[in-house]
Amino acid sequence: MKIGKGYNSVAIYFGELWLKGRNKNFFVDTLCRNIKDRLAGLKYGDFDLWRDRIIIHVNEEDEIGPIIERLRYVFGISWFAPALVVGNSIPEIIEGAKHILGRGDRIRLECHRSYKLLEYRSSDVVSEFLRRSGDLGFELDKNSEDVLFISITISSAILHRHRVAGLGGLPIGTSGRAVVLLSGGIDSPVAAFYAMRRGFDVVYLHVHGYDDPHTAMASKMHELAGQLAKYSGKTRIYYAPFHIFQMAAMGSGPRYELVLFKRFIYMLSEKMADEMNIDAIVTGESLGQVASQTVSNLSSAQGGVRHLIFRPLIGFDKNEIIEMARRIGTYDISIKQYRDVCSIKARNPAVKTDPIFIKRAFDSAGMKIALEKTYAAMAVADINGPGGASEGAKA
Ligand code: ATP
Ligand code: MG
Repeated sequence: MKIGKGYNSVAIYFGELWLKGRNKNFFVDTLCRNIKDRLAGLKYGDFDLWRDRIIIHVNEEDEIGPIIERLRYVFGISWFAPALVVGNSIPEIIEGAKHILGRGDRIRLECHRSYKLLEYRSSDVVSEFLRRSGDLGFELDKNSEDVLFISITISSAILHRHRVAGLGGLPIGTSGRAVVLLSGGIDSPVAAFYAMRRGFDVVYLHVHGYDDPHTAMASKMHELAGQLAKYSGKTRIYYAPFHIFQMAAMGSGPRYELVLFKRFIYMLSEKMADEMNIDAIVTGESLGQVASQTVSNLSSAQGGVRHLIFRPLIGFDKNEIIEMARRIGTYDISIKQYRDVCSIKARNPAVKTDPIFIKRAFDSAGMKIALEKTYAAMAVADINGPGGASEGAKA
C-alpha cells in the first residue's frame, strides 16, 4: 500500500463487539500489549486510547510503513489506517485535510463525532468544507470511492483515508493457553492460526522421527513455527521423539497403530497441559479426511482425555484449508520434504475401533511408561516473534 504524505500516527480500531462486558479493560490491555510486542524493534511514540480505537503516534512519517505491515498479523483488530491527528476545531480539521490530500484527489467526506458535547455537528464540518471547496487544493465528490474519514473525539480529530482490514478475532491470550499438535503437514498450522484467532496463546508439540532432536529442530518445523510466530509473537515448540511410542506399540498390530498414536499424542499434550498451565489442546484434524479421522477413531483416541480438544478445521474441505494455508504463509513450508512420522505407519489402518478395546490395547502396551519416557526426552526450542532475534534451539 502506498501510504502517502503527511501522516503522524496510525489509528487502530478494534470494534466494540467483544467489549460489552466487564472484561473490556482486560481485552484492551491485552491487545495493547500484543501490539507493542509485535512492533518490537520499530520506532514509535505514545499510545492513546479512545473508546474503540488506539492511536499510535509516530515522530517521523517513514516509521508508519513497517508498523502497518506488522499490524496485519495482530488478532483483535477490525481495521487500521495511517492517520493524521489534529486539533478538533473545524479550521484545524480543514488544514489537516489539505496536508494529506493534494491536487487530483477526488474525495468523499465521512465525518463522525464520537464526542457529542462539541459546539458543532458533523454536518457543520462538511458544510465548511463545501464552502471552502475553491481553496482546498483537492476536489470534493460525494460519489467518490476515495473516502476521507474524519473522526472527532474530545480532544482531537483523526483523519484517515486508506483503511486496511485487520485479522479480527480476539487478542491472543484472552482465551488462555493451548498446546497445538503440529505435524509437518498443511492442516495443523492452519488450525494454529484459528486457535490464535480466538484468543489462545499457543505452544506447539511436534513428534519427530529422528534419533536426535537437533535434526528435527533444524528442519522445516522451526520455519513453520517461525511463520506462525508472526501472528503469535514469541512461542515455544516442544519436540518429542517417536521411537519410544513405536517400540511400545509393536505388539499391538499395525492396524491400530494410527489410533494408538493419536491417543498417545493427546495424552502427551494432556501431560503438558497439566504441567505447564495449559487450558486446551488443538489439532489440525478434520472429519473423514483420512482413516485416523473417522468419528469412531477420534472418539476411541480421545476417551479419558480431560482437557477440551479443539479441532478448528472440522468443517473445512481440504481445498479451503490449502487456500488458507497459502494466505497465512505456511503452505510453501508445509509442502517441503520432511520425514513425517505418519508415513512410518500402516498402509491399511482400521477405520472403526472400539474405545474400550483401544484403551485396553494402549494400557497393556505399557503406554503410561512410554509417555513418561517421551515426556522426559522432550526438547524445547524458543521461537521469537517479529523484531526479536532467534534465541536458537535448546535441547
Ligand atoms: P496435517 O496436514 O496437519 O498433517 P493430516 O491431514 O496429515 O494433518 P493426520 O496425519 O491424521 O492428518 O494428523 C491429524 C492431526 O494430528 C494433525 O493436524 C496434528 O494436529 C496431529 N499430528 C499428526 N502427526 C503429528 C506429529 N507428528 N506431531 C504432532 N502432532 C501431530
Ligand atoms: Mg499429516
